[in-house]
Amino acid sequence: MSFASLGLVDALLRTLETLDYKTPTPVQTQAIPAVLAGRDVMAAAQTGTGKTAGFALPLLQRLAMEGPQVGSNCVRALVLVPTRELAEQVHESFRAYAGNLPLRTMVAYGGVSINPQMMKLRKGVDVMVATPGRLLDLHRQNAVKFNQLVTLVLDEADRMLDLGFSRELDQVFAALPKQRQTLLFSATFSDPIRAMAEKLLRDPVAIEA
Ligand code: AMP
Repeated sequence: MSFASLGLVDALLRTLETLDYKTPTPVQTQAIPAVLAGRDVMAAAQTGTGKTAGFALPLLQRLAMEGPQVGSNCVRALVLVPTRELAEQVHESFRAYAGNLPLRTMVAYGGVSINPQMMKLRKGVDVMVATPGRLLDLHRQNAVKFNQLVTLVLDEADRMLDLGFSRELDQVFAALPKQRQTLLFSATFSDPIRAMAEKLLRDPVAIEA
């Protein structure tokens, strides 16, 4: 199996070559075609399985190929993560994979000044990686709009629930367009995660690392 045979475009294949990624991991082999096809995904994947590239690469491709230009304060893909460390790490991955694609990315989490995040959002962003609390703060201040949202990613969904983000997540979900692609990644599938998947996902492709 090769990245090319999964349907990735040349610009991304060239980036993967420079990163020395030679073969896709099992999660990537399953997730990349599903995400490119616009399907919802429910994936059981731990850290270290290559899950980040599994959602980031096809997401970037969809955003780069499908236009339209992002409007002021709009976000086209939202990636929710439990902690600021993971937010930084996932955003770094998006930056690395996006290479020279003309896409705007940003990261937002609490405990730091909100103003630079608000400034960044003014021009709109293609990919926003955020923790739930700060995202809601930005939303309450009308700094972020979801009318152009194409895809929602929940990364480490089980940790988000463990850290008590359940209420915040429900508030975010309520603000998002119903018509969208949703990707749920979780290391474990407890009853609350299954309930969340049931509520959020439409005919998902099930993926096992
Ligand atoms: P993740 O599970 O997303 O945290 O990724 C784990 C690590 O594997 C990261 O350092 C990635 O850069 C690396 N990685 C992901 N996919 C591949 C691949 N197909 N080939 C080589 N390294 C990869």
